[in-house]
Amino acid sequence: MNYLSKVDVTNKRVLLRCDFNVSIKNGVITDTSKIDKSLDTINYLLNNKNTVILLSHFGRVKTEDDKKSNSLKIVYEYLKEFLDLEFVEDPTTIDKVQVSNKKCFLIENTRFTDVPEKRESINDLELAKYWSEFADVFVIDAFASLHRAHSSTAGVSNYLPTYLGFLVEKELTNLEKLVKNSKHPFLVIMGGAKVDDKLGIIEGLLKKCDKLILTGGILNTFLKVMGYNIGKSLVSDNGEILRNVEKIINESKNKIFYSSKFIVNRLNNVLEVDLEDIQNDDIIYDNIINLDEIINASKIVFLNGTSGKYEIDEYSKGTEKLLYDLKNSSAEVYVGGGDSVSSVISLGFENEFKYLSSGGGATLEYVSDSKLKALEYIREHNL
Ligand code: ADP
Ligand code: MG
Repeated sequence: MNYLSKVDVTNKRVLLRCDFNVSIKNGVITDTSKIDKSLDTINYLLNNKNTVILLSHFGRVKTEDDKKSNSLKIVYEYLKEFLDLEFVEDPTTIDKVQVSNKKCFLIENTRFTDVPEKRESINDLELAKYWSEFADVFVIDAFASLHRAHSSTAGVSNYLPTYLGFLVEKELTNLEKLVKNSKHPFLVIMGGAKVDDKLGIIEGLLKKCDKLILTGGILNTFLKVMGYNIGKSLVSDNGEILRNVEKIINESKNKIFYSSKFIVNRLNNVLEVDLEDIQNDDIIYDNIINLDEIINASKIVFLNGTSGKYEIDEYSKGTEKLLYDLKNSSAEVYVGGGDSVSSVISLGFENEFKYLSSGGGATLEYVSDSKLKALEYIREHNL
């Protein structure tokens, strides 16, 4: 598959799929880095006299009502500060004349086409073909969306010459070193809240790594399955997940490690206790104690997820301790995931690690499985 950096795209109409799926709080974008990271490719294409038509999804759109809170207009308002940009309100009625008269467009949320009937997210090729008719070339720079083969991330490649943008190139070249990793010991550290989403990833990574440290909310479910009292802590109650956790523990027990101490909220007092001393009312956030040796012995580390609620001071100690340990080790450290990268940046450690990936689910799937669904699809279907 070709990188945009290896070809000459000039005086063309370019359909550019970005990932502008940023978080919003009180009507304000909380972190613009996803948008900022797309500017290299956008500006390069504009400087080369191309017309650029930007596509992105934004949030979850399941009902007509969801459209109200998931308009890309907020991204348009932000991007307008940098680009001479026009907004197209409906992703299924793009005006050909409008598009031929201006240089840069942002089309409304591609997922608006999922209501009333799913189109974008089932990779409806009629929709992909419709979008392709406005362009001569398709460039995909939405790294964080590449684990989904949708109309706008994959389908369009049936109809247009397709290239990978600068952000995708940077992510793939950096993460490839981890995917093709031959360094050992290879340590994976998985934390965060959602064990249900990450269990498949953990299974994939266990096949590749030498050791796995579990932390954060994910660890709680493992501890519960091992028979420990975890009080009122966050835990999965999905039977299938619990059975899978049990299977993983049985097969990989000797690869799995976790902290020996826990910070707990016990009836609104914050204490540090041993695992065996957790009581029925406790909510636990682990504390990354006695893991230094494993971290220091590692040559290469992949970290995803945080060790407790790093957003709240009282429960951020575990995450801080972990990041300090990683910074002080000589291992090559790769970090993936929105919150994980934010926690690194909030400590000012962004230059201390080998690579911080801008992807969440996409990074996890690529690192655990060496594949990304959109890229596999494009490889198979592109002209
Ligand atoms: P990433 O975005 O890097 O993939 P996650 O979203 O999986 O990471 O994990 C970060 C989130 O997990 C944070 O919002 C954090 O508050 C939450 N979290 C971590 N540990 C716990 C815990 N023990 N209990 C509840 N929430 C937790
Ligand atoms: Mg997150």
